[in-house]
Amino acid sequence: MKKIAISMLLIMTLLVTMLTACTSGGTEPISTVDKNSADVLVIGGGGAGLVASITAAENGANVILVEKMPAVGGNTIISATGITASDTKLHQEAGVPFTKEDHFKKTMETSKNLADEKLVKILVDNSNAAYEWLLTLGLKYKLDPKDPAWIIPEEGHYGAQLVKAYQAEAAKYSNIDLRLQTKATELVVENGKVVGAKVTDKDGKEQVIKAKSVILATGGLNNAPDMIAEFNPKYVGVNTEMTTPGPTGDGIRMAQAIGAQLKDMEYFQMRPLSLNGHWYKEVIVNQEGIGGILVNKDAKRFVDETMSSWDLASEILKQQDSMAFVIFDTDVFNTSDGKKIVEKAKGIKADTIEDLAKQLGLDPAALKATVDEYNAKNDPFGRKTLGKVTTAPFYGVKTLPSSHYTMGGVAINENAQVLDKDGKVIEGLYAAGEVVGGLYGAGRVAGNNTLDDIVFGKIAAKHAIGK
Ligand code: ADP
Repeated sequence: MKKIAISMLLIMTLLVTMLTACTSGGTEPISTVDKNSADVLVIGGGGAGLVASITAAENGANVILVEKMPAVGGNTIISATGITASDTKLHQEAGVPFTKEDHFKKTMETSKNLADEKLVKILVDNSNAAYEWLLTLGLKYKLDPKDPAWIIPEEGHYGAQLVKAYQAEAAKYSNIDLRLQTKATELVVENGKVVGAKVTDKDGKEQVIKAKSVILATGGLNNAPDMIAEFNPKYVGVNTEMTTPGPTGDGIRMAQAIGAQLKDMEYFQMRPLSLNGHWYKEVIVNQEGIGGILVNKDAKRFVDETMSSWDLASEILKQQDSMAFVIFDTDVFNTSDGKKIVEKAKGIKADTIEDLAKQLGLDPAALKATVDEYNAKNDPFGRKTLGKVTTAPFYGVKTLPSSHYTMGGVAINENAQVLDKDGKVIEGLYAAGEVVGGLYGAGRVAGNNTLDDIVFGKIAAKHAIGK
């Protein structure tokens, strides 16, 4: 009898649940429908994933957003500068033009003309709207006095503010179910269409989340040195000074596994001079007349320090322990870049080259010989602009070249739909943010990345829900 009563209760519960699921509108909180199904599953809670979630939710869709780390933010949170946008009110008011045409040209040229013009045009055409949307979130900006392409915060840290604003906006929607410490491991495909993903939840339990559409927003490879080296062997040994822990190329692997097309995977934005989360301009070692030098653990120069940043990174990575020391004198220290590297990377200061060497753990006689040779303009590496290391005190800083941005990623069309190797749409799968390839070719204009999070995050979400 008792058994029958329990069975009846179970059947009743099931019926009620089914009814609720059938009658509930798109904006019902997911918990009242089916815990593991949604209109949109967003994978990755950095800039692109948060924007996509907000956009889908404000258009009435139920969203599950999975983020593998204990907090959202990804590498977006460490974006230090600002957003690039053209033809904005700020430009009009300041009478400083940065037109859509300028923006397009700059983006294409920086990409070495490898970027997909169609995607770049979408990025540029939507940049003012993206900037205006940020204002609606309560963020306040000004033009960078040094470069009208850049719109920077009136005060404070750009990326941290951005993520805080996105989080606050997302929190307004009960139809966004944010699941932290939940890692997507595999895309689920049925009849050629992506219908969800396998995830491992915070308790280590495997689950399948079903969704009408899936948006990949997993960021780049900056914390996956082996993958970076796989896609470009020049960067074997690359360090991870310039990244948060989350961007480990999961989206690339998941998309690869179902036959997605990858684009421009060999290109990374390298920071040859970086340490402890900060990077330093190469001007420290290549400035005409005063630039310092790089030495390896044998206290020997090994490269023309004025070469391109990606080649310089590669040459440093070939040295013992994939690192080098930046050596310079007071004249470089007296520049803002010199001061910054000494302060932030905890540089060593010494009155003599020998003492500097001792403090850095280098052979004093060897470093003295290297510096003397360099000051005598004896340069076996064909350096284009010579500097000098003559005026005490002298400074030395360790550098661990790191990847700052992953240019390549999954190929998308103008709707942010992921393409397969034949250029055909993979139904049900979208991508936005750093996981996308094709927007930047060999090089990225700083500030375009947080712009593309917004532009393609919104496009992906809207197309995914048929808006
Ligand atoms: P974007 O600017 O493209 O949004 P971010 O680096 O800011 O890139 O954000 C990417 C986010 O995706 C990070 O928070 C990262 O932890 C998250 N992420 C990466 N892989 C997974 C995964 N497999 N499952 C869930 N979240 C992931």
